[in-house]
Amino acid sequence: MRIRTELIIFFLIISVVPLSAVVYMSYDYSKEAIRNTVMTNLLGATENSGNAIDNWMDARKDDIRVISRSEFAINMKKDELREYMSAYESEHEGVYEEFFLLDLDGNIVFSTLNRTGNAAQEPYFIEAARGKLYISDVSLSEINGYPEIIVTNPVRKNGSISGILAARVSMENLYRILENIDIGKSGEIFIVNKDGDIIFHSNRSVILHKNINNNFAVNEVTYEKNGINEYVNYKGEKVLGSYYWLPLYRWGLVVEKNIDEAYSGVFNLERRMLSISSFALIAVVLVAVVVSRRITGPIKSLEEGATGLLSGNFKPIPVSSGNEIGKLTKIFDDTALELLEIRKKLEAKIDIANKDLEQKNKELIAANEELKKLDEMKSDIISLVSHELKTPLSSIRISAEYLESEAKNYPQAQKDMLGIIIRNIDRLTRLINDILDLSKIEAGKMELQLERVDIRDIVNAAIENTKLLSLKKNISITADIPGNISQVIGDREKLIIVMNNLVENALKFTADGGSILLSVKEDADSIEVTMKDTGIGIEKDKLEKIFDKFYQVDSTSRRKIGGLGLGLSIAGGIIRAHGSEIHVESEIEKGSTFSFRLKKAGK
Ligand code: ADP
Repeated sequence: MRIRTELIIFFLIISVVPLSAVVYMSYDYSKEAIRNTVMTNLLGATENSGNAIDNWMDARKDDIRVISRSEFAINMKKDELREYMSAYESEHEGVYEEFFLLDLDGNIVFSTLNRTGNAAQEPYFIEAARGKLYISDVSLSEINGYPEIIVTNPVRKNGSISGILAARVSMENLYRILENIDIGKSGEIFIVNKDGDIIFHSNRSVILHKNINNNFAVNEVTYEKNGINEYVNYKGEKVLGSYYWLPLYRWGLVVEKNIDEAYSGVFNLERRMLSISSFALIAVVLVAVVVSRRITGPIKSLEEGATGLLSGNFKPIPVSSGNEIGKLTKIFDDTALELLEIRKKLEAKIDIANKDLEQKNKELIAANEELKKLDEMKSDIISLVSHELKTPLSSIRISAEYLESEAKNYPQAQKDMLGIIIRNIDRLTRLINDILDLSKIEAGKMELQLERVDIRDIVNAAIENTKLLSLKKNISITADIPGNISQVIGDREKLIIVMNNLVENALKFTADGGSILLSVKEDADSIEVTMKDTGIGIEKDKLEKIFDKFYQVDSTSRRKIGGLGLGLSIAGGIIRAHGSEIHVESEIEKGSTFSFRLKKAGK
């Protein structure tokens, strides 16, 4: 992840987490506060309504009490009573629809509406006759069909009940008072009786026509409980409702508010919190981006500078501030310039050294050429001299052989000397031949007469050539060659020289009574020839050197043995000319094994 992204994430985490916590906590706190306020207000509105009902009803009760204690009522002065009551009616306009007096049998003896009749069965008569002020349930008036209550109180004369005063009270006035109480825009206020019938509602047509006893608030309030709660009202709307039981009249007062409107403050708060949080988040992101850019900008320049330095395209980075990054940039610039300077110097030095090397190389090539020429000259001289030596040597040998054939009567000492002369001529001839072979090998002039060769012939020839020596030293030479062995491609004479040299060496470096095994094995495309002896062996660190010319393992025991150290160089050279190599393995006092491979001839 890029540093800039990491920084932005870091800033976001350290600012957004506490910010969200603060926002959430204050939201939660304010939400509760708003809820409490809403509930308190609603409870207040309910209480106001209850007070308004109580006040109004108290006024009605007072009116009835006052009238029933008046002299006109006690003494049944009808004319005065009518006047007195009409004064009440006009004082409380629209409240009293009728005042009437009943005798103790329930007969209407006086009515402001001049009604007659008997109310002996009516609860308002029965209860008042027992001596109590009585307030009836709300009912629809027989006279005008509007909701009304009947308030009755006994009239007492000399301490005993002489009649009942009744007032038919229209509820409309109380309703208007209730309607004027401030319950907010979505508020609704209604009153139910203990059966759940609506007895007050702004929609008058439902009064005593609608029963809502299966509603939560109505259930609660008709169980004479007070409280506030959220529930679904009789219209199926979710509301916050407060309910209040008025025990004196057995009325349940309910004030409801639509839940969304009631809690609109909470929703406003939510919206406000959301916009504040979004604004804060955007601000944090912007600050994070700006700050991280300020931090990572110079780092990016440093990175570009370093890449430029690597690709040899460095431009000094402008130092934009004096802070730690600015200082680092400055150090980087200085170091880079210094490095470039060093590089330039180094390149110049390398250039000079290169030129020097080139010069030296040329000189070396020239010297090498010179050496080659000298070597060729040396080889030429050696082969010339050797050649020139061969002819006189063969004449000397012929002469010596002649003398030997004539030497039957010579004294023994002369015969011995002749033998020594002939042996040494042979040695010299062999030596000259070896030197000639080697100089040809070294000059790369050795020509191979390639032909199909039966390896058996080569092995047998070597055994034959060394027969005298092997008999003399009592060393057995065994050949292990499969009967159907394939032919190889090679130079017959040269391969005989190789085999001769290996067997001669084995005979030279194996003590009397030892053994030599010559074995041949065949695989898919080559034939391996191995010479294994039970001789003195060769030390490990000398193994590589024995193929060098004139090399002999330094040992006094071997000094006695003839040879110039050319045999293995010649054998190695011949096998190399055949595209192969001689391998050697050896163990001191146990013996040595020399082997080489030759290509099989096709069928
Ligand atoms: P040389 O004329 O001395 O035999 P060569 O080149 O043939 O020269 O051999 C080099 C040397 O390698 C010998 O002098 C001898 O020390 C060692 N060497 C060669 N063949 C054998 C062998 N079969 N066993 C032990 N030593 C060997």
